[in-house]
Amino acid sequence: MRTIGLIGGMSWESTVSYYQAINRNVQMRLGGLHSAKIILESVDFAPIAQMQSDSEWDKAGLVLAESAARLQSAGADCVLICTNTMHNVAEQVENAIDVPLLHIADATAHALQADHICKVGLLGTRFTMEQDFYKGRLTQQHGIEVITPSDTSRTIVHDVIYNELCLGQICNDSREQYLQIIQELAQAGAQAVILGCTEIALLVKQGDTAMPLYDTTAIHAQAAVEFALAGN
Ligand code: GLU
Repeated sequence: MRTIGLIGGMSWESTVSYYQAINRNVQMRLGGLHSAKIILESVDFAPIAQMQSDSEWDKAGLVLAESAARLQSAGADCVLICTNTMHNVAEQVENAIDVPLLHIADATAHALQADHICKVGLLGTRFTMEQDFYKGRLTQQHGIEVITPSDTSRTIVHDVIYNELCLGQICNDSREQYLQIIQELAQAGAQAVILGCTEIALLVKQGDTAMPLYDTTAIHAQAAVEFALAGN
């Protein structure tokens, strides 16, 4: 089994989900007492979040690139950035290592393509919904059309992520707002919705809506397990 390197802590609430999903998956595949070989670099999210809002992406990229290099030196065979937003600096991280960086948008695109989804709604932070590093990759590299909520709805989605979900707060009112926004995306022609922030699945579950949801945490964790067990 290969060793999975995780850059987590953004937020740690969702890193818990990664750790659990990867281990559950390996246990399901290999049975018995098997569990994943994982090395975790968990950062302090506060300064990273500050760099995001100050648009200091290169500075944040350096922090993650150093994390990735440490994971590689410690024996990781691949690296995952356990957040959609920080894939804004994926290239910088990739350039710091020789082992593969498993990109969350690529894993998500493969899951969508397997289900023949070609027009999808995207929920995530403002950075993920509005900048090109994520939507652009889905569209240009994978041919998937991406739609995002209205400006007012994007504000709600973004604020709930940073003010509630990253702090471990799960609020029913916010779930209702998210479900309403998912409905708006369905009306705009989305065949499915990407939960493009690794905390959203803590709030909204597939059982809450008829709209197919693609949970990027689960998908990314699954991609890590496929990599770790390839050739096993
Ligand atoms: N975990 C979130 C994501 O997947 C948001 C936190 C962050 O900005 O990294 O985008």
